[in-house]
Amino acid sequence: MTTVPKVVVFDCDGVLVDSVSSWKTLHDYFGTDNSHNLKRFIEGEISDTEFMRLDIRMWKEIQDPIYRDELFRSYSGVKVMPGAKELVTELKAAGIFVAIVSAGVDLFVSSIASMLKVDDWIANGFEFNEDDTLSDEGICRLHASKKNLIITKILEMHGFEAVDCVSVGDSEMDLSMQVAGSRFIGFNPTRESSKSAFAAAGIPVVTEKNLLSIKPYLGLE
Ligand SMILES: [Mg+2]
Repeated sequence: MTTVPKVVVFDCDGVLVDSVSSWKTLHDYFGTDNSHNLKRFIEGEISDTEFMRLDIRMWKEIQDPIYRDELFRSYSGVKVMPGAKELVTELKAAGIFVAIVSAGVDLFVSSIASMLKVDDWIANGFEFNEDDTLSDEGICRLHASKKNLIITKILEMHGFEAVDCVSVGDSEMDLSMQVAGSRFIGFNPTRESSKSAFAAAGIPVVTEKNLLSIKPYLGLE
């Protein structure tokens, strides 16, 4: 029988929301294409910080200045993943600690965190100047491929053991969410590289695009 965890940690983009990347949403908005840099980033050629700086530079070539409000509004079309609200509500009602660990954009992730009323969240993001315009540098609070470092901190901070924790992610970098001793569920991977990495990792993968489908892996229902 599957044990019910005490903590569930979600990736945000592609898991809690039906959009693969909160960075990509902004590229779509400005009409820029960062697929080349994304590839370099996944392959470890450029750092998170450098990746963010390059993204911001691309947008500023299209428009400068860029205001905080405008960035926030560009997310208005992004939908919550089917089943996300129901699942998080159920987890919270069962006394399970819910956290979001995202390498996505803080501006967006914070709005999802407050809507879903999760217990804790962290994301990367932006720095704004005094006049609310976007600065040239991003803020790197966590590394997409080293999410275990942050999750370990969250577990320690709240007195949980790794064995109490289940993480849920949609990409190969999210495999780093699996702190030794904890479990990981792959959810709705879209990139081929994510699908093959999940298959190689031998972890359970849920392909139905509804978060309620992970419940059996959480020992619920
Ligand atoms: Mg994701």
